[in-house]
Amino acid sequence: MADGSNGVGAPALGGNAYKFIDHTFDVVVVGAGGAGLRAVTGASEAGLKTACITKVFPTRSHTVAAQGGVAAALGNMGRDDWRFHMYDTVKGSDWLGDQDAIEYLVRNAPAAVYELEHWGVPFSRTEDGKIYQRPFGGMTTDYGKGIAQRTCAAADRTGHAMLHTLYGQSLRHSAEFFIEYFAIDLIMDETGACRGVVALCQEDGSIHRFRAHRTILATGGYGRAYFSCTSAHTCTGDGNAMVLRAGLPLQDMEFVQFHPTGIYGAGVLITEGSRGEGGYLTNSAGERFMERYAPSAKDLASRDVVSRAMTIEIREGRGVGKNKDHIHLHLSHLDPAILAERLPGISESAKIFAGVDVTKEPIPVLPTVHYNMGGIPTNYHGEVLTKKNGDPDTVVPGLMAIGEAACVSVHGANRLGSNSLIDLVVFGRAAGLRCAEMISKGERHADLPADAGELALSRLDHFRNAKGGTPTAELRNRMQRTMQTNCAVFRTGEVLEEGHKLIHEVWGGIDDVSVADRSLIWNSDLIETLEFDNLISQAVVTMDSAVNRTESRGAHAREDFPDRNDQDWMKHTLAWADPSKRTVTIDYRPVHTYTMTNDVSYIEPKARVY
Ligand SMILES: Cc1cc2nc3c(=O)[nH]c(=O)nc-3n(C[C@H](O)[C@H](O)[C@H](O)COP(=O)(O)OP(=O)(O)OC[C@H]3O[C@@H](n4cnc5c(N)ncnc54)[C@H](O)[C@@H]3O)c2cc1C
Repeated sequence: MADGSNGVGAPALGGNAYKFIDHTFDVVVVGAGGAGLRAVTGASEAGLKTACITKVFPTRSHTVAAQGGVAAALGNMGRDDWRFHMYDTVKGSDWLGDQDAIEYLVRNAPAAVYELEHWGVPFSRTEDGKIYQRPFGGMTTDYGKGIAQRTCAAADRTGHAMLHTLYGQSLRHSAEFFIEYFAIDLIMDETGACRGVVALCQEDGSIHRFRAHRTILATGGYGRAYFSCTSAHTCTGDGNAMVLRAGLPLQDMEFVQFHPTGIYGAGVLITEGSRGEGGYLTNSAGERFMERYAPSAKDLASRDVVSRAMTIEIREGRGVGKNKDHIHLHLSHLDPAILAERLPGISESAKIFAGVDVTKEPIPVLPTVHYNMGGIPTNYHGEVLTKKNGDPDTVVPGLMAIGEAACVSVHGANRLGSNSLIDLVVFGRAAGLRCAEMISKGERHADLPADAGELALSRLDHFRNAKGGTPTAELRNRMQRTMQTNCAVFRTGEVLEEGHKLIHEVWGGIDDVSVADRSLIWNSDLIETLEFDNLISQAVVTMDSAVNRTESRGAHAREDFPDRNDQDWMKHTLAWADPSKRTVTIDYRPVHTYTMTNDVSYIEPKARVY
């Protein structure tokens, strides 16, 4: 498997020197979710020698859990146009999205869905055999006037269908998979270029150094920084943290999406497609309160709007249940045949996690952390950007990012439901195309820097010797509670300042961490510690970016600054973290206020009402 292992020695632990097993590829993709697999397929199809590294088996990536669907203006269920989709996405982003990237997304969306169809995704069908499309929050026709049916669905298991199909496609060419390999850190050289990545094989504890012309991070979101989230336990944003440790910034990290309908107590998702099919929310008075907050879109307003409305109802004493601390979602008025055909998965989840029969009773729900709009800044080719010498769009050579890990930024301050699955395949494809365009066959690899891989080894060694007084699980719990309490749906300066203090204390707590099981193999405490170390740096930049932004925009709602302030704040946050000094530096880059082509003009900011 190893091509040209040179067995470079490394700092020893207990007399066991680490040895690198070296590999050389044109492209290394870290992550095998929807984004990673689409990029692997594209790069390998183009004849590039491609590797895919993934810490879980590809079809266990979080994409498998996506329910509701994937957005594209196909117009199968009524009139639609990519321009309407563009308008909705810009408005959904609360004008923080880059409009050139949004145009790229929505124009390429229909072709990306047809490609999935041809590759074998078993989409639900209309009577006349076309791909079935359902309404989703914030998706409209005629620039906000009508309700669009734009979200293509495979029942309520769209992600499952997509991921399995994409895995099949990714095996068609000669890509090599490194499954259950945990990527630790990037290999950066002295010029600031990325030369590859170091990963640990969890099966036998061997350490691998992957050299590549392009390293593509497709490592997903970091929902697990919070106590209650809909995402898998693996969603620890490892790629984002690698970028921070490489001295590069993350973008717009204060924008964390809460999904209105996580099952109360369990956090398990009930898709927005359930409201798309006609479900609605009520408070303790049985009132359909969304009519007050969003008179036209009602229960299908944008996610941040619905989550805040639910939180206000609960705060004002109109929550349901013994503690008046949640809300009811009703589906029992829907035809049981429709429930069985279009929402079978959530009917099952409601039974298992809430003991509810959806044909008879409402589901108890609560806003739950669901998606990270922020991440690694990129352009619409997937190339990672940093701000250097005053230029906010400087490309970092050798490094790319796609999927939820990336911030392109098409979702801006708030992502519309079903716009992430389409982002995965559109930008996964774009990254593959960019690699094919930029890498010439047989291109010589730059020399690895003398210290290539040392950062990864030093962290491994450090945590294997960590014999402090605080277990990793305790630090993680403190981090998750702090984020849940101090950086949630509603924010104030005071709550965020307290959060800033608490989360920095947790960060400092790493000095006293104790790692119980230091084995390099399987789900040891060591791996959990590496994941915690990744999460805490993202939690810190999330909190600090939120403290700084003194306005309300999309998912970032400040009670002390209730209005959007385009004059001062229509800009992306960039946050750097120095893990050795435990400091965060914040700067900004302008939002792209231009489109990709002249076919459409820039959509001017206006108030965001639904
Ligand atoms: C419950 C749920 C339902 C959703 N429903 C929808 C929906 O209906 N429509 C929609 O548009 N969006 C939906 N979303 C959002 C969407 O599914 C995600 O944003 C998207 O799937 C993320 O895909 P990804 O490819 O970026 O990453 P993921 O699918 O999260 O995959 C990450 C990959 O990175 C790998 N990885 C991570 N760290 C490492 C490491 N250190 N070393 C090696 N490999 C690593 C993992 O093994 C995995 O393969 C939903 C999200 C959730 C949680």
